[in-house]
This record gives sequence, C-alpha cells and structure tokens, in this order.
Amino acid sequence: MPRKKGDANEIKRRVRHIRCPVCGYRVVDAPADTKVQLIALAESRNPDLILKCGRCGAMVGVMKTE
Ligand SMILES: [Zn+2]
Repeated sequence: MPRKKGDANEIKRRVRHIRCPVCGYRVVDAPADTKVQLIALAESRNPDLILKCGRCGAMVGVMKTE
C-alpha cells in the first residue's frame, strides 16, 4: 500500500503516547518519530512547551530531544 504524506490514518497508526512523568497519565500523543521528552517542570531548564497533567495537575515541561 503506497504511503501518502500527511495521511492522518498513517500518523495515527504510529502515534506514541507521552505520559506524565509524575503519575504516568497519558497527557499527549505524538507521532512516533517526534523527538520529545516530558520532564517535571522543576527539572527542565528550557522547555519548548508546558503541559498540565489532567490527572495530577502537575506542570510538565516538553523538551525536544534533538
Ligand atoms: Zn500526572
């Protein structure tokens, strides 16, 4: 089956669940090849994004790993 760029179903198949480092709750999904890491905000120096965990309420820094 040929691959199309930007195919939403293709992306969904390869999605990676990114979890809260505090409680393990799934806070966001990312395509499998996205190089990101979640770190407790207190431990991250320059996060690219900040999320709030829907379960424990922790503020979580999202950092690109490359
Ligand atoms: Zn949490």
